[in-house]
Amino acid sequence: MRLLIFLVMIFLAGPGSFAQDYDRMRENMVRRQIISRGIDHQPTIQAMQNVERHLFVPRAQQRRAYDDGPMPIGYGQTISQPYIVAYMTQLVNPRPGDRVLEIGAGSGYQAAILGEIVEEVVTIEIIPELGNRAKNLLDNLGYDNIEVIIGDGYFGYPDKAPFDAIVVTAAAEYIPPPLVEQLKDGGKMIIPVGSPFLVQTLMLVEKKGERITTTNLMPVRFVPFTRRD
Ligand code: SAH
Repeated sequence: MRLLIFLVMIFLAGPGSFAQDYDRMRENMVRRQIISRGIDHQPTIQAMQNVERHLFVPRAQQRRAYDDGPMPIGYGQTISQPYIVAYMTQLVNPRPGDRVLEIGAGSGYQAAILGEIVEEVVTIEIIPELGNRAKNLLDNLGYDNIEVIIGDGYFGYPDKAPFDAIVVTAAAEYIPPPLVEQLKDGGKMIIPVGSPFLVQTLMLVEKKGERITTTNLMPVRFVPFTRRD
């Protein structure tokens, strides 16, 4: 009887749901999707290795969390493909003492990656249910350097500005001026720009004194940047 119960438990746990399996899947993800595609910023690579991505996706999808693509997280939103998360992180060149703003907390995954590297992360989410879920998860995982704010990220977060870096994870039709305003001199912002539901362009915005430069990086597809009515 005990054996039967044991076997039933193994069956219910299912293949791929053991911690070691996730560790192995994460190692493969980092090797095949991150390093081999040219990400070479060590803190980014280490963060991608450390953060347990499967905890940020719905339970039914956990075994696919390390796949090479975006994934639904509910409320019509998605968590970005691992490579895109790493690419955006590397491009803003986050450093240990930095304060970073993210717009679009979603699952909280990108915030956790940043939180592994920098001193302080503020992340804003417009859908309260997603924001609260991200907040609880990040709290449970012990990220006391990440603050989740529910609200419209268009206006940034003046209380904690200026920021060394800003990462926008929803596609805006134009670069919100308040975000440029809240970027530190020498700071970098990464943002997908273009019309919703079409291909957008990932852009790097750099502020040097009064000068703002923008660089088009690559075509991407993100969920739309929405506004409160
Ligand atoms: N960075 C997230 C990906 C989230 S998808 C992650 O790692 O999981 C983009 C998110 O941006 C969605 O959750 C969406 O609700 C949010 N969003 C869209 N417009 C926004 C706005 N104006 N302010 C804040 N969040 C916004």
